Amino acid sequence: MHKTKVSRAQRTYLVRTSLLLPLGHPFLEPNRSLSLVVKLDHVEKSYQLGKTTVNALRGVSLSLREREFVVVMGPSGSGKTTLLNIIGTLDRVSSGRVLLEGNDIGKMRDGELTKLRRHKIGFIFQFHNLIPVLTALENVQLPLLTSGVNTKQAEERAKILLGRVGLSGRLNHLPDELSGGEQQRVAIARALANRPRILLADEPTGDLDTKTGTEVVELMYEMAKRENATVMIVTHDPVVAKRAERIFEMRDGILTETSTSEVSFHRIRAVEQLPPEPEKTLSQPN
Ligand code: ADP
Ligand code: MG
Repeated sequence: MHKTKVSRAQRTYLVRTSLLLPLGHPFLEPNRSLSLVVKLDHVEKSYQLGKTTVNALRGVSLSLREREFVVVMGPSGSGKTTLLNIIGTLDRVSSGRVLLEGNDIGKMRDGELTKLRRHKIGFIFQFHNLIPVLTALENVQLPLLTSGVNTKQAEERAKILLGRVGLSGRLNHLPDELSGGEQQRVAIARALANRPRILLADEPTGDLDTKTGTEVVELMYEMAKRENATVMIVTHDPVVAKRAERIFEMRDGILTETSTSEVSFHRIRAVEQLPPEPEKTLSQPN
C-alpha cells in the first residue's frame, strides 16, 4: 500500500486543526511548553545554634515545571521543611540561588517577597492552620481579601472552591465544627484561592487516617491540576507517594531524585518506618 510521508510540521498542523488546538498548546509540545516554575541552584542553608552550625541543606539543585506533582520523602531532621520554607520564600538561603518563574528571589526585598508569596504560593500544613474564629467560607475568603479582591468576588471564588472540595454544605462551620479531613479540604481551598503557581504542603496527611488521607491527596491532585499549580509535598505517607509524578528523597540535607518504579518504593517504605516527626520543628512557619 502506498504510504504518504507527512512531515512533523504537517502532522502538528493536522492534529491542531482537527482538535481545534491553538498554536503552542501543551498537547502539541508536551515538554517544550511546560515552563520552569521553580529552580534551585546549589542551595545551602545553615543555622547557627550558639557555637553549633546545623547544615540543613547541603547543595540542593532542583527544577520543577508547570503542573508537576512531586513528593519529597526522608527521615525527620533531614531538611524537608527547610526546603519548603526556602521555596516558599519564608526563609533565605545561606548560599546558592532560588528562581521562581525565572526571578531570583535572593535579589528581592521583603515587601516584594510578601507580594510574591501572597500571589504565587499556596501553603498547606499538617495541622491545617485555619483561623479558629472564622468560618470555612471566611477562611478561604481571607487570602483573597488581603490581596485586594472585593468582598463579593472573594465570596464567589471561595464558594466555588469550597464546592469543588465537597464542602458546599459546610460554608458557615467553624474549623472545630469540622472533621480533620474537612479542615484539610478547607486548607486546600484556601491555599488555592489566589491561583498560586506553586502549592507547597508539609505532611498534609500526617494527622489523617488512611482513607481520609487518600481523599485529601486525590483532591489536592485534582484541584492543583485544574488550577495549573505545581505541587511539592513533603510526606511520610505511601498514599501520597503513590500519586507522585516524581519522587525525591532527602537525606542529611542532600536531595536525590528516585524513580517512581516498584524498586524505589521498597526503599521509600524503609524511610517511612522511621519514627514520626515531632509536631513542630523549629523551622515550621507558624
Ligand atoms: P525535616 O522537616 O526533614 O524534619 P527540618 O528542615 O525541619 O527537617 O530541619 C533540618 C535540620 O535543621 C534539623 O537538624 C533541624 O533541627 C535544623 N533546623 C531547622 N530549622 C532550624 C532553625 N530555625 N534553627 C536552627 N536549626 C534549625
Ligand atoms: Mg519537617
